[in-house]
Amino acid sequence: MELIDKALQDYVEKHSQEAPELLQELERETCAKILMPRMISGHLQGRVLSMLSWMLRPRRILEIGTYTGYSALCLAEGLAQDGQLTTIDINKELEDMVRRYFKKAGMENQIDYLLGNALDIIPALDMTFDLVFIDADKINYTKYFDLVIDKVRQGGFIIADNVLWSGKVLEKNRKKKIDKDTQAILDFNRKVQENSKVENVLFPVRDGLMVMRKT
Ligand code: SAH
Ligand code: CA
Repeated sequence: MELIDKALQDYVEKHSQEAPELLQELERETCAKILMPRMISGHLQGRVLSMLSWMLRPRRILEIGTYTGYSALCLAEGLAQDGQLTTIDINKELEDMVRRYFKKAGMENQIDYLLGNALDIIPALDMTFDLVFIDADKINYTKYFDLVIDKVRQGGFIIADNVLWSGKVLEKNRKKKIDKDTQAILDFNRKVQENSKVENVLFPVRDGLMVMRKT
C-alpha cells in the first residue's frame, strides 16, 4: 500500500538528495540478486536516515537488521568523527556482499558487523548508544525495545521501521484473522505510545518510522 499518491511520491523523491552512487549500486545489486529486495530502505528512507544521523552526529549507533547494508551505510554517514556503528544480522549468506560494500565505502573500520541472533547478541553488548535503529524480525520488536532501552543514553534516540506494516495496522486493510507480524507491530506501537521512558512521533515515511527520544 502506498501511503501517498504515486505522483506526489515521485515529486518528493525528485526533491530529495540523490543517494550516493555506491548506495545506488548496492540497491541495484540487491534487487538483481537477493531475496526480498523490498526490505531495503532505498532512496527516500535512506536519505531520511542519513539526515537524521547528520542532525544527531551520534558517536555510537546500533542497528538491528543489516540485510545488505544499505541502511547501515546511510546511518553511518552522520557518525561523529570517532563514531562507531554496530550492526547485527542473522543471515550469514549476505556476509560477503555486505563486507564488500562496507569496504568499498571505506567504512569497514567504523562498522562492527555482527552475525547471529540479535536476541543473543544485544545483551552481551557492553556499550551505550546515542541512536538505535530497529529493523529486524517484527515479531521481536517489543523484545528489542526492552533489550535496548537501558543501553540508550538519556536523550538518545530509537527509530523503528515498518510500524505501519503496509497499512495493516488498520483493521480495514487486513484479513479477518490477524497475522502474527501485524499483531507484533500493533503491540509494539501501543507499548511505545504508553511508555513513559520515551517521547515518540510516528513519521509516515515509506512504511512508517517510529522515532523515539529517551527522556
Ligand atoms: N535495515 C535493512 C533491512 C533489514 S531487513 C535496510 O533498511 O536496508 C531485516 C533483516 O533482519 C534481514 O536481513 C534478516 O536476516 C534480519 N533478521 C531477522 N531476524 C533476526 C534476528 N533474530 N537477529 C538478527 N537479524 C535478524
Ligand atoms: Ca525495514
